[in-house]
Amino acid sequence: MNKKREISLKRAEELKSRIDDYLVARDSIAKGMDPEVQEQYNRSKEILMKHFNATEEDWKSYKWQLVNRISDVVTLSLIIDLTDEEKKQIEEVGKNFRWAISPYYASLINPADRYDPIRLLSVPTGVEIQALEGDADPMGEEFTNPAGTITRRYPDRLIINTTNECAMYCRHCQRRRNIGENDTHTNDAAIMESIEYIRSNSEIRDILLTGGDALCLSDSRLEWILKELRSIPHVDYIRLGTRTPVTMPQRVTPELVEMLKKYHPIYLNTHFNHPKEITPEVKEACERLANAGVPLGNQAVLLNGINNDKFVMRLMNHEMLKIRVRPYYIFHAKHVIGTTHFNTSVDDGIEIMEYLRGYTSGMAVPTYIINAPKGQGKTPIAPQYMISRGTDYVKIRTWEGKVIDYENHPTKNIKDLI
Ligand code: SF4
Repeated sequence: MNKKREISLKRAEELKSRIDDYLVARDSIAKGMDPEVQEQYNRSKEILMKHFNATEEDWKSYKWQLVNRISDVVTLSLIIDLTDEEKKQIEEVGKNFRWAISPYYASLINPADRYDPIRLLSVPTGVEIQALEGDADPMGEEFTNPAGTITRRYPDRLIINTTNECAMYCRHCQRRRNIGENDTHTNDAAIMESIEYIRSNSEIRDILLTGGDALCLSDSRLEWILKELRSIPHVDYIRLGTRTPVTMPQRVTPELVEMLKKYHPIYLNTHFNHPKEITPEVKEACERLANAGVPLGNQAVLLNGINNDKFVMRLMNHEMLKIRVRPYYIFHAKHVIGTTHFNTSVDDGIEIMEYLRGYTSGMAVPTYIINAPKGQGKTPIAPQYMISRGTDYVKIRTWEGKVIDYENHPTKNIKDLI
């Protein structure tokens, strides 16, 4: 064996040893594609279809899913084991914070596991009202609303809040003060006021339609807004913020994607938090969007007991890339009233980022973000890879922890060189 091959083989062995822990852990994490998860899903689906007297066609209809969201303990207890105390707590929480779960999403819950990630994400727990600490509006959104239902925090882009409705009211929702307490779509006048603000501010080039969930609007209402925005020459592209591909994938119909195609460039950011959320139905929805030319990104929230685990986050990112969703952000959870049990330390986030960079493809490495309080913007947080710098070098640390001095000289003018 020649020397070069010998060195390469030794290095390959070293690299293999860097993935062993993940390969072991990966098999113990529930995935939405696992046959056991699918069997469980089908059992709960059957129970709910019988309860609602629904057909397979009904189940596949997003309108049916939306109208039949589960929001009472009697229906919920048909598919998950609830103690009397838990039922009482759910009802108590419901008086403060609304809850509703699409039958599709609820069917993914493991009935016997109190700590099932889908259950933690969707079913209220007494802790939400035990310690009402935290802030209702940590982002100070009321102070970043120059017109209509706009939120503006940056020089060249803004949000239009189009509705308060979501397919499922996430227990960790960071905007729960105005999400879901009533299902109201933003009225025509407020939408038009938002659009006119954009029309008269030519620096705005990027619009995010969100809410609530932008895909809780009907196709015709969404098309009206897209058409108005597209009539503004300085709008470069439009983004949709929606969790429906995850919580109610039935929303992504052939008709919807045909309509969206007319208003490109359209981007869509969704919100996966756990690999168990990635199911065959979700794959179909995401592929349908991707095939229509809509690039998909994911904005996860770092959540205690759900994904503050380096193996879970890595597996989720891999599973998303398989269905053509690019990990985009991991948001550090804010101190929002009724959700603080989901908060983690920043160290958890740093550990996850440290473990992703180099250990997996750069495509599977999102940016970890702390949203600075009172709307001061997204602040990227990363492990430290540049240790120090001198006049002609920077000291860097590689993903494997090797410390190296790297040459660094002032940039010369290209015209002095060529
Ligand atoms: S889909 Fe988004 S806005 Fe709606 S409840 Fe969940 S986190 Fe909140």
